[in-house]
Amino acid sequence: QSKKLGRNQVSFFDPDALPHFIERRTLEFELRDALQKQEFLLHFQIQVDHWRQPIGVEALIRWQHPELGLLLPSDFIPLAEENGAIIPIGLWVLEQACQQLKAWQASNKTAQLSLSVNISGKQLQQADFAQQVLARIAQYSVPAHLLRLEITEGVLLGEIDAIVHSMNQLNAAGVRFALDDFGVGYSSLQYLKRLPIDQLKIDHSFIQDLEHDQSDRTIVRTIVAMANNLGVDVIAEGVENELQLELLRNKGCVHFQGYLFGRPIDIRQLNGFLS
Ligand code: C2E
Ligand code: MG
Ligand code: MG
Ligand code: MG
Repeated sequence: QSKKLGRNQVSFFDPDALPHFIERRTLEFELRDALQKQEFLLHFQIQVDHWRQPIGVEALIRWQHPELGLLLPSDFIPLAEENGAIIPIGLWVLEQACQQLKAWQASNKTAQLSLSVNISGKQLQQADFAQQVLARIAQYSVPAHLLRLEITEGVLLGEIDAIVHSMNQLNAAGVRFALDDFGVGYSSLQYLKRLPIDQLKIDHSFIQDLEHDQSDRTIVRTIVAMANNLGVDVIAEGVENELQLELLRNKGCVHFQGYLFGRPIDIRQLNGFLS
């Protein structure tokens, strides 16, 4: 019986899977209203340099659902991408990010921090995407070079020419791009050549067993060497312990993100930490 259910079936005893058996249509319906009801919020995770000093922050969206509690992106971003809600939600995230960058300009301690925002393919494929981003940068008069948009290779399966055009337009204005989850997709090297990308984020799946897995170490060393040769910054995601950090440093990696340095936290905690 349990075999028949297959791998994708949700166990009714798995509390993590709760959102999946709440009727899908209900969640989809609520998703449309969640923006107006101000149920979204951002958590922030710091990125550090070789000396563990903060160099940037990544914004990670959360949905404070009235009944289900705090939902993670995996619970609702795929749904939002399917029904188009990701467009207004994504603009909200960008607006919050610009507002935050603006606030950080007021203090020397935070004025140099970059802020990374995750962008989904649907957003990047909008004809007016670049315009929308530039409008918010202007509205909050933030230094464009401190805004970094994170895309994954999956994004690039869309209308590639339109995407390249948007990215170039934004890059010309100073906006930076990171290639997220690097190494788990495909065609990475092609796109690296063609797109204005200035940072590779080594996917956490290569980091999590770094202590035990020789081939992961080889992969990491190769990515770092390639990035250095291409003049692209590289940052390791999901660094959880000192041994991983040490191994990454040995491979020449100098930028890091992960629980070892800080979990994603809300804006009050973050500002407390940074001040
Ligand atoms: P991502 O951009 O690769 O973000 C990194 C994810 O790894 C985050 O999960 C973060 O909480 C988690 N993480 C950070 N450090 C560690 C660590 O040391 N160990 C482990 N095991 N995990 C760590 P989160 O917040 O659940 O976000 C998941 C994904 O959702 C993100 O992956 C990103 O692709 C997407 N996402 C987040 N915010 C947004 C958004 O505003 N818009 C869009 N379109 N996607 C978003
Ligand atoms: Mg990211
Ligand atoms: Mg990632
Ligand atoms: Mg991811």
